[in-house]
Order: sequence, then C-alpha cells, then structure tokens
Amino acid sequence: MKICWFNEDRLGVIVDGALRDVSAALTVLPARSYPAYVGDLLIAHLDAVRSEIERVLPQAPVVDLQSVRLGSPVAQTGKIIGVPVNYQKHVEEANADVATFTGRYTGGILEQGLFIKASSSLIGCSEAVRLTMPDRLTHHELELGVIIGKKTRNVSASEALGCIAGYAIALDMTVRGPEDRSLRKSLDTYSVLGPWLVTADEIADPQALNMKLTVNGETRQETNTSQMILYIAEQIEWASRFYTLYPGDIIMTGTCEGVGPVVAGDLMHAEIEGVGAMDVRVLSAEA
Ligand code: MN
Repeated sequence: MKICWFNEDRLGVIVDGALRDVSAALTVLPARSYPAYVGDLLIAHLDAVRSEIERVLPQAPVVDLQSVRLGSPVAQTGKIIGVPVNYQKHVEEANADVATFTGRYTGGILEQGLFIKASSSLIGCSEAVRLTMPDRLTHHELELGVIIGKKTRNVSASEALGCIAGYAIALDMTVRGPEDRSLRKSLDTYSVLGPWLVTADEIADPQALNMKLTVNGETRQETNTSQMILYIAEQIEWASRFYTLYPGDIIMTGTCEGVGPVVAGDLMHAEIEGVGAMDVRVLSAEA
C-alpha cells in the first residue's frame, strides 16, 4: 500500500496511480495520551489504519494527484538517523576531493558511526528545499528512506527487517564545510521524504532497487541498493544498539556517487524502483 499525507492533514492512498482521499480511516487512531511517547501515531497503528483504509476505500473520493501538495509521509518523526559513506564509489569520490568534503571522510562507516538530522528539517516533496546558507555549497544526496514501524532496541540483523513499516525516497540535503553534520544536514527543509510511504510488504528485497536522481534533467546519481556497504538489516541492528527506535523514526541509508551542488531555481527529480518518483524544487530562503 502507498500511503501519503496531502494538503496538510488529508490521508491518501495511491491505487492504480490515482490518489484516493481516505482521511475517514483516521478515526481508528486512539486519542494520544500525554506524555506517553509512541512515536508517529499513524505509523504506530499502521495495521489498524490499513484495515480501515481497505474498509473506506470503496467510498473514498478520487483526488487529482497533480493538484495536491504532498507532505512528508511521516507526519511526526522522532529522529532521522543518517548513515555516512555507505556506498564504495561515494567513499572514493569523497576521498578524491578533500577540499569539498573537508577531509572528514577518512574513516570507514563503522569508524564514523551514525549521525542524527533534526526532525524539524523534514519536509515532503511538494515543499521546496530552501537554501538558508546561499553563500555555501549545498549538495543533494539521494538515499533510500527506511521508516521504522515498531519500538525496537538491540534487534538482531536477522529480525531487523521485521521492524520496518515501509520505504520512501529520501534526500539528505547537505551543506559542505567544516561544521558538525548535525548543523550542516539539519537546516530547515534539508530532509526530504516522499512521495509516499510504500509499506514493507510491497518491497520484496530492499537491497535490489534501482535509484536515480536528476537535476534539471541531467543525471547526477544512479545506483542500485545492492551497492550498499552496510545493508539495511545491519544498519537497524547497529542503530538499535545506540538508540531505541520508535514508530516513525527514519533511517537515511546512505548515498551513492554523483553527489553535487544545487542552486536556487533547480528542479531535482528522484526515483526509486518500487517506491515511486518525485520532483523537488530548490529555492532561496526568502523566495
Ligand atoms: Mn547522506
């Protein structure tokens, strides 16, 4: 099932390429009890919501997909976990251009560890990436986004894929320079997730997906998720040793070679096999 948020607070599903408004299914969500934290309420109750979506679908209005604004398919993420240097050819391009990558890509993935992007940086594909540091270099990083479906701690790799609610296309937008990653990758709008969440049952093998990113029609990044150094199951095992994972937490699973600059006015197009495709604008902060 492909599930999205559109026009701020409407829940949708994509059926045969058409958007259906299934907001009526949200009534199965329990009232949120404060301060008990469960992560994203919809993701935490995804099975119940899916059943209700199936029930209301025959009466669900069709909406023109081209006319809506798609929000992040995770409405309230607790954290966005970044996986650095996880494709060998990206490691090589970073090592070959120390000036741009500021010499920080010298260790392997297990030495560098994971990083966190601020949850406030998350947007959907219909919002634009805003260049709040226009005098600095901003790069696109195309990544497969993994959305955690249940509370997870110290899970083994063999059981880790069972913790996944679904997948989405992720853009780990990044300012290059000397500051800590938690600043350079956490600016408002620097985490893009879309166009929708594809539930895990639709992706038979997440390590066999072609993915591609173009900027203004020019191909920049193209790879297959089989090229990851640390596979998704291992990433979840590793991450769950440090962080308790909650429903709606997002793992950006690393980028491949071909990262490059974007400037105001650019149009990024990203697609991942089995997930979908999305266009994302780049604008100046004040536009
Ligand atoms: Mn990245």
